[in-house]
Amino acid sequence: MVKVPTQLVTWDDIVNWSQGLANVIKKAGYRPDIIIAVSRGGYVPARLLCDFLLVENLISLQSQHWTEAAKVAEKAIIKFPYRVDLSGLRALLVDDIVDTGDTLILARDFIISEWKPAELKIAALQWISPVAKIKPDFYYIEVKEWVWFQYPWTRLEDTIQFLRRILREESGSKKVWTAQELKDRFLEYYGIYVGDTYFNLALETLVETGYLAKSEEKLYIVK
Ligand code: AMP
Repeated sequence: MVKVPTQLVTWDDIVNWSQGLANVIKKAGYRPDIIIAVSRGGYVPARLLCDFLLVENLISLQSQHWTEAAKVAEKAIIKFPYRVDLSGLRALLVDDIVDTGDTLILARDFIISEWKPAELKIAALQWISPVAKIKPDFYYIEVKEWVWFQYPWTRLEDTIQFLRRILREESGSKKVWTAQELKDRFLEYYGIYVGDTYFNLALETLVETGYLAKSEEKLYIVK
């Protein structure tokens, strides 16, 4: 049994899902004049939707909720609450996934009250229906059991945080690791492998930032 159910998402998945989502939006007859990406998770899907829906206007809004992979922060905030005038425009707010929904609720309310588009609809690649506080107007995949989706644009960030969690949780009994032991434990905890490039880069980053020390025998020691 893994500790954190995790699914590795590839770039190809993202292109396919975004194309599928664009079809859902087209079939519903919604023709946005402008797309608003929720930063940071909505960036890639929003850019792909611009392509699949032939939309030229793309802006973003940073609404942040989760500070660490698979760990929720206390509340969502709008990081840079700038103002633009969207009156007369049909807007589409795009994110990667609706989990709690707090990020999107905050972004939606801010946009409606401050940017005032003629219409605002929400699209997400995935919607975790049992936990989400809102249902997006358009989604491609309904997720019925909570999973952490390891998207390709957070591969390094997530791997670093996943490794830190292992090191933290095991630090009572184990302080010296080989890279292979960490790799094996990673698979036990998360059930995925991110590939050598990302895994090694994550280990190097943990050494660079002083979280780990590297000895001659290539052991990684928790400082
Ligand atoms: P939320 O406010 O809980 O709906 O989630 C805010 C953001 O956190 C999402 O747009 C994602 O970028 C990230 N996130 C939340 N839950 C997950 C998950 N289960 N898998 C991957 N990313 C997630």
